[in-house]
Amino acid sequence: MTTALNHVGGVWQRSGGADFLDVHDPATADAIGRVALSAGRDLDSAVEAAAAAFRDWRNTPVEDRVQPLFRLKALLDERAGELARVITAENGKTLAESEGELKRAIENVEVACGTPALMQGDFLEDVAAGIDELMIRQPVGVCAIVCPFNFPAMIPFWFFPYALACGNTCIVKPSERTPLTMRAVFELLDEAGFPPGVANLVNGDRRVVDAILEHPGIAAVSFVGSTPVARHVYAAASAAGKRVQAQGGAKNPIVVLPDADIDMTGAIAADSAFGCAGQRCLAASLAIAVGDAAGPFVEAMGQIAGSRVVGNGLHDGVEMGPVITQQSRDRIEGLIGAAAGEGARIVVDGRGRTVDGHPGGAFVGPTLLRGVPPAGTIAATEIFGPVLGVMEVPDVDAAIRLVNSGRYGNMACLFTGSGAAARRFRHEADVGNVGINLGVAAPMAFFPFSGWRDSFFGTLHGQGKHAIEFFTQTKVVVERWPEAWSRRF
Ligand code: NAD
Repeated sequence: MTTALNHVGGVWQRSGGADFLDVHDPATADAIGRVALSAGRDLDSAVEAAAAAFRDWRNTPVEDRVQPLFRLKALLDERAGELARVITAENGKTLAESEGELKRAIENVEVACGTPALMQGDFLEDVAAGIDELMIRQPVGVCAIVCPFNFPAMIPFWFFPYALACGNTCIVKPSERTPLTMRAVFELLDEAGFPPGVANLVNGDRRVVDAILEHPGIAAVSFVGSTPVARHVYAAASAAGKRVQAQGGAKNPIVVLPDADIDMTGAIAADSAFGCAGQRCLAASLAIAVGDAAGPFVEAMGQIAGSRVVGNGLHDGVEMGPVITQQSRDRIEGLIGAAAGEGARIVVDGRGRTVDGHPGGAFVGPTLLRGVPPAGTIAATEIFGPVLGVMEVPDVDAAIRLVNSGRYGNMACLFTGSGAAARRFRHEADVGNVGINLGVAAPMAFFPFSGWRDSFFGTLHGQGKHAIEFFTQTKVVVERWPEAWSRRF
């Protein structure tokens, strides 16, 4: 059993909190570790360590600040296999999915290594006679990063490499359900040579998050998780005067036009809906089939959903692992039942799925629903499981209206052979990430991980230039020198 300790001021330490949680392998239900839930005083000592480290770190030249990131990238490449096993063990996704997640994490380290170019300011000579004006970017201070369970490696990397490269110090708070991945990553951060206190790890649950939101020593909060919590984090941290970026939940529609290549669409849509057992914030959860597309699309999806290999993500040949907990499985199964109660037809039913040798596993099979009523609760509820609901509309206008009628705006995708339809969809879809003939429109690290409406609270997103802007404050200097003063006429 591994214990997920805190890492504060360069030292691994037990939290002072009295409560512990077991960490379970969702495929077996075995306890594989435990995590101590930190108390407010643990956070205080992490903030003190981060604030003390900030004094030197912010004055360290940016070129020196990115050197540990280059070493971190090499270490992550070297240990990717070990890390992927940790992710799969505590999250359940397949090893291939864990390796894919790590690639996206590493990509953020690569982009943050370019911070000497990315954080440059502006300079304009002679804004008035003999007067120059410049804008520089400076770090904001101690930054907290609060993460969800579904990408335990990748999501912290949307933020902390940029925060550190910009001269901030940080505190990462992983999900209490998947704390072992960041424990392993912090061992690599130590090896990479970040000075003590620059990156700190504090484990815990909602109590430590609430302490973060109020802590006067924390300048910025980056959050990823469900919408109700994102809304709370945004409101509380803003009220406490912090800068905040809070990415929330999703209900992602994909629109299938009659001219779409159905084989390609089926394969891509299935990966989106059922990959990572549907526990991706960019998972397709509603398919809006236009006109004649419905029949062939449902048939293709039904075949794929019915044949997908479900099992332990560590095993060869498994295409889909379990969901995170048995409670989550029960909730998803309840929502499938509720969809049927609202009038949807269950084409492929993933309820009650068992896997040999894994009696305690939290498995749900791929599920396909047809005729989900647009005004019902299922069409609006984030299921966060391997469930795709199909709706049918007569034309593309109705499809776009439906895409834009939901409360979330994380992603929408269009499957078509028409450039004109694609261009219109790109322009009119009221979401932050758009895919054309793609099922998971996950932005590369040099683009912001966007998200609109109830999927995001704030202005600047994670990744790339948005992260650099979020983790720096701009200072404008207007300057004049005596020699220029004497030559002013
Ligand atoms: P969650 O909201 O339950 O938890 C996220 C974090 O918030 C955890 O660290 C948790 O300890 C903390 N937390 C939970 N409840 C809290 C409360 N009441 N007050 C303060 N802190 C609290 O999310 P989850 O179940 O871990 O993750 C799944 C959710 O995250 C889904 O809704 C998914 O769509 C979303 N997500 C969004 C994105 C995105 O980029 N928009 C990416 C990944 C996941």
